[in-house]
Amino acid sequence: MFIVKEKLLLIPGPSPVHERILAALAAPTVAHTGPEMQAELKGGCENLKRIVFCSNGEAFIVAGAGTLSMEMALLNTAAAGKDRVLILSQGYFGERMGQICRAFGIDHEVMEAEWGRAIFPDELDARLIKKTYDIIVSTHVDTATGACAPVEEYARAVKRSGALFIVDGVCATGGIPEKMDDWGIDVVLTAAQKCFGVPPGLALCVFSERAMAKRQGLASIPAYYSDILRWLPIMKDPVKYFSTPCVNEVRSFFEATRMILEEGLEPRFRRHDLFARSIRASLGALGFGFFTDPEFYASTLSVPAYPAGVEDKAFRAELYENGVVVAGGLAQTAGKVFRMGHMGNLTRAEVLFALESVEKTLDSLGYRFEPGASLKAAGAVLGP
Ligand SMILES: *Cc1c(COP(=O)(O)O)cnc(C)c1O
Repeated sequence: MFIVKEKLLLIPGPSPVHERILAALAAPTVAHTGPEMQAELKGGCENLKRIVFCSNGEAFIVAGAGTLSMEMALLNTAAAGKDRVLILSQGYFGERMGQICRAFGIDHEVMEAEWGRAIFPDELDARLIKKTYDIIVSTHVDTATGACAPVEEYARAVKRSGALFIVDGVCATGGIPEKMDDWGIDVVLTAAQKCFGVPPGLALCVFSERAMAKRQGLASIPAYYSDILRWLPIMKDPVKYFSTPCVNEVRSFFEATRMILEEGLEPRFRRHDLFARSIRASLGALGFGFFTDPEFYASTLSVPAYPAGVEDKAFRAELYENGVVVAGGLAQTAGKVFRMGHMGNLTRAEVLFALESVEKTLDSLGYRFEPGASLKAAGAVLGP
């Protein structure tokens, strides 16, 4: 028997899974080509397009995770030996984009921001004036550094240059606006387990009409399972077969998108922003700093830096005992910060529980602070 001991999962994904989504996941497995999948896979694609504000274009829901969707976005648009890709990197996942390009021999350059920041739009402008690229790729929120890139402004610069614009929204889509049509984003790639609040297992991509035309213009690509043209007929009509969709996951994803649309996109984005501000206010009142440059704070994830006297491993272990799971720092930030995801279907009560647990944890570690100050600071942001 596996261990059933519920903890509040505030890592940078997977995020907590709402009982409606768990119930959808537990429903009986159905035929992948049957009527239920016809409604749910197609419905999931339609809703996914609404969530990224894409009125035309095509959505793809494929078994896998974020890294597969990164690969799908690149392989279906960038021709090796021909196209030139510019990667705007603010940390861990920008680097991974470069590794994928390398693995497939795709000609690429990386503009790397200092950790904790993103590339400034005028830096991008300056680069695009000097040099032309076929494809620009940006991470929206980097999971290691908590830096949120100004993708709307990037999109303006990319549009002027005529390149295709790919956004890695794995830690953002469904929590922070990504307006494909209005801003001019050509591919949003994402995954189920972050702001959608679905268990891991799905790679998600939305391609604009322009990105679809780019794929159609490529004679062949070095991919089979990741080739969107093999998936397109299935997304349009799930009665057809290419490779078996993971039906229970698809069903739970469909339920998650319905919850998102019921909440409303703008209210959901505002909720993410509100929770993020309250968490920062609260941790700030306890003496935590923040690794991320304030100009690039993300509303899906925070990277608090420990005050003097609080040791990383002891803090996270004790917080775990108090019911909350957070992640440690990566690479250069290891031991100095923890990473707290606050995305998906988080509730106000869960935010307050997490903050109380942090206080309790610090108290038992012997760290001195003003009791109640953190909840008061959170309450001031959250309001009544
Ligand atoms: C989590 C994440 C990924 C990787 O997703 P996996 O599902 O772990 O493969 C990629 N990009 C960003 C921005 C992420 O946050």
